[in-house]
Amino acid sequence: MTDLYRLLPEEVEKLVIDMGYDRYRADQILLPLYYKFPKDINDIPQLPKKLREELTEAGYTIGSAKETHRVVSEDGDTTKLLLELSDGSSVETVLMQYEPTKIGGHPRSTICVSTQIGCAMGCVFCATGQMGFETNLKAEHIVSQVIHFAEILEKRGEHVTNLVFMGMGEPMANYDEMIRAVKILTHDRGFGLGQRHITISTIGIASGIEKLAEENLQIGLAISLHAPNNELRKKLVPTAGSHSVEDIIESGRKYFKKTGRRVTFEYALMEGINDSPEIANELAKLLRGNGSHVNIIPINPTAGDFKRPSEKNVLEFERILRQSGVNCTVRVEKGTEISAACGQLRTDIIG
Ligand code: SF4
Repeated sequence: MTDLYRLLPEEVEKLVIDMGYDRYRADQILLPLYYKFPKDINDIPQLPKKLREELTEAGYTIGSAKETHRVVSEDGDTTKLLLELSDGSSVETVLMQYEPTKIGGHPRSTICVSTQIGCAMGCVFCATGQMGFETNLKAEHIVSQVIHFAEILEKRGEHVTNLVFMGMGEPMANYDEMIRAVKILTHDRGFGLGQRHITISTIGIASGIEKLAEENLQIGLAISLHAPNNELRKKLVPTAGSHSVEDIIESGRKYFKKTGRRVTFEYALMEGINDSPEIANELAKLLRGNGSHVNIIPINPTAGDFKRPSEKNVLEFERILRQSGVNCTVRVEKGTEISAACGQLRTDIIG
């Protein structure tokens, strides 16, 4: 069985040509796939019946995701879904909607997709990390998370504007499937989302960052740093051993040099762990002058014992970074009360 959502547009084209049909038949498959969201090959009536039958006989399918649970935040801006994928596994995907930040701007509908079920990185403050690793998602299952939300939004006259690979899992640990999904989602004959509207978030797998830099894509990169030195980082990200803070900063620098895309360092701020003025100064020293941006994320409540710092401490941390010349922002959290925010996704406790 091959899911049509797995195929790049040029692969769909090759498929129809190999089956003896004209090239234009590929677009008769691709256009409905990404704009009409059919659930079955027979839901594409413009395709000749013979071609639909031949595709089905050859084992081609359309593997949509099925929604098994939905939670919406009180303000209606965040929707978390538990989706059953075509292989029977379940994954969480989140939609976050934002008002325009400036006059004349457009509202944003950002989908936070998952690339794995569970995660092997074991970050101590992350609910997904505490689940352990279950499996890598296939490209078609990453794509179908986006398609599912695209269909929901289309019914409201809206559309997906941004995509962040920040859901369950470490995208670089499932590189080939992740990048195949990115190429399908950004292809102008596929889902057609602008490359600049996509951000990949990684715990800092240097080899993956370097590979991504070579893809010649204009994708944003977010690196989860969380600590300015290796000793503290290893306590928070136990698998960080082979990726030192210095290696990570260097791979971010190379990514910026190669792509021209600014790199964001994510910093989950935890009371009494990594929020002191001394640590802020150490972080500032590390990042000063390299053009990067720090996104401070006051930690969300998860199963662990970590606490969100007081607002005063968050502002002081931000002030020290700014005063040292490091660009930074404090993330506006969405969906905390429905456990849809960063580090809160897991498949067994939706709700
Ligand atoms: S924070 Fe990201 S990399 Fe770390 S355990 Fe959670 S999902 Fe994995």
